[in-house]
Amino acid sequence: MNKYADIIVNISHEALDRTFQYRVPDELINEVETGSYVNIPFGKGDKIIGGYVLELSDTPNYDPSKIKSIISINADSSLVESKLIKLAYFLKKNYGSTMINALKTVLPIKKKVKEKQIKTVVLKADETLANELLMEYERKHQTARYRLLKELIEEKNIDYSLVVNKLNISASTLSYMESNGVVEITSERVYRNSTKGVISHEKKTLNDEQRKIADAIISDINNDIKDTYLIRGVTGSGKTEIYMEIIDSVINRGQSAIVLIPEIALTYQTVMRFQKRYGDRVSTLHSKLSSGEKYDQFIRAKNGEIDVMIGPRSALFTPFSNVGVIIIDEEHEGSYKSENMPKYHAREVAIELAKLHHASVVLGSATPSIEAYYRAKKGEYKLFELDKRAVSDSMAKTKIIDLREELKAGNKSMFSRELKEKIEDRLIKKQQVMLFLNRRGYAGFVSCRTCGHVVKCPHCDVSLSLHGRSKMVCHYCGYETKTYDKCPECGSPYIGGMKAGTEQVEENIKKLFPFANVLRMDADTTKSKDSYENILSSFANKEADILIGTQMIVKGHDFPNVTLVGILAADMSLHVNDYRASERTFQLITQAAGRAGRGGLLGEVIIQTYSPDNYSIISSANQDYNSFYAEEIEYRDLMGYPPVGHMLAILMESANERLVDITSRNLAGCVKNDIIDKANVREVRVIGPTEATIARINDIYRRVLYIKSSDYEKLREIKDLIESIELDKGLRISFDFDPMNGY
Ligand code: ADP
Ligand code: ZN
Ligand code: ZN
Repeated sequence: MNKYADIIVNISHEALDRTFQYRVPDELINEVETGSYVNIPFGKGDKIIGGYVLELSDTPNYDPSKIKSIISINADSSLVESKLIKLAYFLKKNYGSTMINALKTVLPIKKKVKEKQIKTVVLKADETLANELLMEYERKHQTARYRLLKELIEEKNIDYSLVVNKLNISASTLSYMESNGVVEITSERVYRNSTKGVISHEKKTLNDEQRKIADAIISDINNDIKDTYLIRGVTGSGKTEIYMEIIDSVINRGQSAIVLIPEIALTYQTVMRFQKRYGDRVSTLHSKLSSGEKYDQFIRAKNGEIDVMIGPRSALFTPFSNVGVIIIDEEHEGSYKSENMPKYHAREVAIELAKLHHASVVLGSATPSIEAYYRAKKGEYKLFELDKRAVSDSMAKTKIIDLREELKAGNKSMFSRELKEKIEDRLIKKQQVMLFLNRRGYAGFVSCRTCGHVVKCPHCDVSLSLHGRSKMVCHYCGYETKTYDKCPECGSPYIGGMKAGTEQVEENIKKLFPFANVLRMDADTTKSKDSYENILSSFANKEADILIGTQMIVKGHDFPNVTLVGILAADMSLHVNDYRASERTFQLITQAAGRAGRGGLLGEVIIQTYSPDNYSIISSANQDYNSFYAEEIEYRDLMGYPPVGHMLAILMESANERLVDITSRNLAGCVKNDIIDKANVREVRVIGPTEATIARINDIYRRVLYIKSSDYEKLREIKDLIESIELDKGLRISFDFDPMNGY
């Protein structure tokens, strides 16, 4: 019986570390639960205050005669915070984490931050004057002034940062126009990141296929059927329009919507579409917001000032009081899995949150995760499929090029002959090209051609990547050093970069096509706050002919003038030690291919590979999800991999190599000899411990233990039992269920 409750009285406090234990009186024992908001006597004077129940237990922490009792359940117990605390408890229970960590994950924490001024550019000239000036600017080819005025005539006022970044208007142009009385720049103290002034209710009429799906989901919602839906729809099939239709109906019911998009695809395109439709009733979160900015957005949501929150997985924790729908776009994305404890998956948490709010969950992707599709096939989710684009219904033409044949024909360059010709052709036609290579830097590693020595990071068990011609960087810890002119092992001068990265692609393209304008987008070129947007918007404005990039460029962007996509090394993500390698390869190629020919022009995709017979490459070239799925699920089933079987990865880390070695071996023994019996599981396999794929990062040694079972619940029990073992302080242990990435 849960006779004692740990209660927290102030959850808006940063520390969150103090709970007080209270007795649950008999008459409340069936009502008090995790997250309940209860009235308690507090302090010396027993003042009655409210508090949230964090955890329940049947054992007192100290002398039971000194423990005070809960007075009653507060009538307001359906508070937003109660739901979030319940969600935190779910995280703790399911993913292994302390309650404090789980709370910190879900609760918006107020930190002291400075108020921020938001500047807005406002049209001051009246309509007649504005239109006269517009003609004058056009006549005089004053393009920047023309561009700004044209937008202002439509919108009247535009966020200053949009003007500078999206419209590319310089400060001097602005001050010229301000001094001439055409515009005015106003400042006000407002909530950070609020998105004012870009409303123009733009609504498409759904086509029949879209209508059917939207209607089915909306009618469920209106009939109080709350479910999880998976929409598999090729890129451009109009999923986003369906989402917005569903959101409209939810808003009409007086409820709010949460829209998750992967951080990388958080481009002005997606956000602008939502802003155009919902104006300042939508707010955006992204990882580059400060915690103060994030907090402000949460407060707006809590105050009912917005209807839609769009953002990465943490947008799930928006304190809306009444959520109607949670949408997860690009559901298959790895960024929906948290890398830190608790290592939760946004899909599962969304489904749990939806239960608390009695809301629906809509998942969408062109290439659903094997997991989600498997569940949909089993009937756990309702499945809808869209195989045609909403506007131009022709999919891009794809071609696989065998790089071994290129080599035989004497072509050692990173571009096949056909790709080179096609790039040339597009440059002549003034159409745009995207080149995708999933490796940043200049070269993947540096090695000696004489003795084979590979240069490694002194702090990590990985090779250094070459950046530019003279710098080597560790992608795991950031260590940097100058390149060597001689091999440190044998002294040979033949030491150099192997496996080209995006930097080298850029260099070679510039050599081959000196007149082309080239942009590059990868983790190195997008370090500053608006850099994603700047690169993408300048490519969208056709300021460049070729965009080169890592996986950042393949997701969700709509560039109508791109008619050629080159995938330079399609098998790169294939030969890694990870059961999801084929899935990821299929997704990346399919998504990259989906970038071509989105504006009515026919698109072409060239897929270069050394493994032209691999099923994930063939089925992605054919844009054939179902045949890929059929082959992949057979393999997962055979091997007992997720989603058919389940896996718990236990990562142990320590600066002390001996400690992590011994403890991980002891733990494996303990699991085999003791814990498996206690949890009463039969079908279970313990694999390891072994060194993690990267055995050392930043001088921390890493060992991994895998436990496989077809029974997910049992794995959870095993995790609980392991958590109750006291471990050495110098050791960190973390749990990951059905890991998205290998260790
Ligand atoms: P997805 O989210 O599946 O990639 P989008 O919703 O982004 O697809 O739609 C792709 C393109 O087609 C967008 O430019 C969108 O404005 C347009 N579009 C989608 N549905 C319709 C429709 N019913 N009528 C006209 N245009 C549409
Ligand atoms: Zn050497
Ligand atoms: Zn390193």
